[in-house]
Amino acid sequence: MASTDASPAAGAPPAVEQVKQAAKEQQIDPYNVSGGVDENGNVTAIDYEALRERFNTPALTQEHLDRFERVTGKPPHRLMRRKLFFSHRDFDKILDYYEKYGFFLLYTGRGPSSGSMHLGHAVPFLFTKELQDIFDVPLVVMLTDDEKFLYTRNKNQGKITKGAALGDFIEYAKQNCKDIIALGFDLKKTFIYTDYEYMGGHFYQNITEFEALLTNNQIRGAMGFDGSTNIGLNAYAAKQCVAAFASSYPTLFGAGDFRAPNYDEARPRKHIAAIPTLIPCAIDQEPYFRLLRENCDRMEFPAPKTALILSKFLTALQGSGGKMSASDPNSAIFMSDTPKQIEKKINRFAFSGGGITKEDHEKYGGNPDVDVSYAYLSYFLESDDELNEIEQSYRKGTLSTGELKKRCIKELQKFVEAFQERRSKVTDEIMREFMTPRKLEFKEAVTEKKP
Ligand code: ATP
Repeated sequence: MASTDASPAAGAPPAVEQVKQAAKEQQIDPYNVSGGVDENGNVTAIDYEALRERFNTPALTQEHLDRFERVTGKPPHRLMRRKLFFSHRDFDKILDYYEKYGFFLLYTGRGPSSGSMHLGHAVPFLFTKELQDIFDVPLVVMLTDDEKFLYTRNKNQGKITKGAALGDFIEYAKQNCKDIIALGFDLKKTFIYTDYEYMGGHFYQNITEFEALLTNNQIRGAMGFDGSTNIGLNAYAAKQCVAAFASSYPTLFGAGDFRAPNYDEARPRKHIAAIPTLIPCAIDQEPYFRLLRENCDRMEFPAPKTALILSKFLTALQGSGGKMSASDPNSAIFMSDTPKQIEKKINRFAFSGGGITKEDHEKYGGNPDVDVSYAYLSYFLESDDELNEIEQSYRKGTLSTGELKKRCIKELQKFVEAFQERRSKVTDEIMREFMTPRKLEFKEAVTEKKP
C-alpha cells in the first residue's frame, strides 16, 4: 500500500498521540455494528455489558428463566439458557399479562438486503418460533423492503446500482419470506407482510400519528442520520415502530374499525390498542424501539409499552468485533450455501482461538471465548453437555482447532441442509397464504378470557 504524507516513516513506531487517536468506541445502532478499536489499532470484541449500560436495558437473569419455566411449563430455549438473548425490557410484564389473559402479540422482522438470509438472520426467527410454539400466540413479521431500498439509495447517494433497483428489494422480500416460512412458523397464527404490499388502512393511520410525534432531531440522534440523509429514511422509524401495535392489524384479531364510534370493545381484548407486544430481535434494533416505548402512551389510543427480548449478534466469520452481515458476503454463511461452501468458509475464514502451533495449543490450550467455530456451536448445538465438553477440552488443548472446526461444520451443514429441504417445499401458494391478511387462530379466541 502506498504511504501518504501523514504516515510515519517506514519502520518507525507511530507517535503515541497518533495511536491514541486511532482508538475508537464501539458503534452499535440499526445501521452500524462494529466493535471498538484499541490503542494499537486492533478491533476489539463487542462489549455487551457496556452496551447494556449505554442503552440502559436490564439483564435477562436466571430469575427470568425460572419464571419463564414456571409460567410455560417448558425449559427455556438454548439461546436463552446460554444468555445469547441477554437483555430485555418489560419481559416480566409480558409474562404477567400472559398469566392473566393467555396471549400477547409477537412481532419481529427482516430487512431484505439479499435474496438469501444468513445464519445471523435465522437467530431471532428460531427463537421467535420457539416462543410462538410455547405460548401459542399470534405473530406478525414485517419485511422492510421499502427501508432497504431507501437505505441502499442513501448509501449510493441516490444512484441506481445493480441489484438495488426498487423491484430487487420486492423480490428479495419474497425470497426471504419463503426462508422465514421454512423455519417452521404456524400458518394459523402467523402473518408475514412486506411494507410495499400491506401498508394502508389502520396501519397507515398509526404511521402518520406516530410520524407526528417524532422530530428530525430525535431520529438523527437515534439513528446517526444527518441533513444529507434522504427524507424517506428519516421517516421510516415510524413504520417500524407502529408495526408493534396490534391496532395496525385489526383483521388479524377479528376486530373492526377501532376508530369508529361504535367499535365493539368486547373482544379480543378490551380495546385492540391495549394488546401488548413482545419483540425478539438483536440489540442493534433497540434505538428504534426506544423511540417506540417513549411514545406508546402518546397515541390517540394508547398502547402498553412494547416489551423486548434482545440478543447478541451471531459474529462475523472474521471474529467477535463485527456481526455476520449480508452486505459483507465474506462475513456470512448463507442459508443457501452448499455443504462444501460451509466447509470452505469455516476452514478458511472462521477466526480461531487456538494456539499458533500444535505444540502451543497442546501446552497452553485454546480460547473458546474468541473462537468463531465455538461461538457458532453455542448458537446451533442443542446439547449443553456436549457444548460444555467441547469448551473444556478446547481450553485444555486436548481438542484441536481442526477438530473443533470439523464439529462446527457438521452442525451447520446439518442445520442448513434440513432448512433447504423444507425451503424447497415452500411454493408461491404457501407464501401467499402466509401473506394474506386474515383472522389468526390463537388461544384467547377459544378461551374467551376477559380482562
Ligand atoms: P444485514 O446487514 O445482514 O442485512 P441487518 O441488520 O440489516 O443485517 P435485518 O434484516 O435488518 O438485518 O435484521 C433482521 C433481524 O435480524 C434483526 O432483529 C436484527 O437485529 C437481526 N440480525 C441481523 N444480523 C444478525 C446477526 N449477525 N446476529 C443476530 N441477529 C442478527
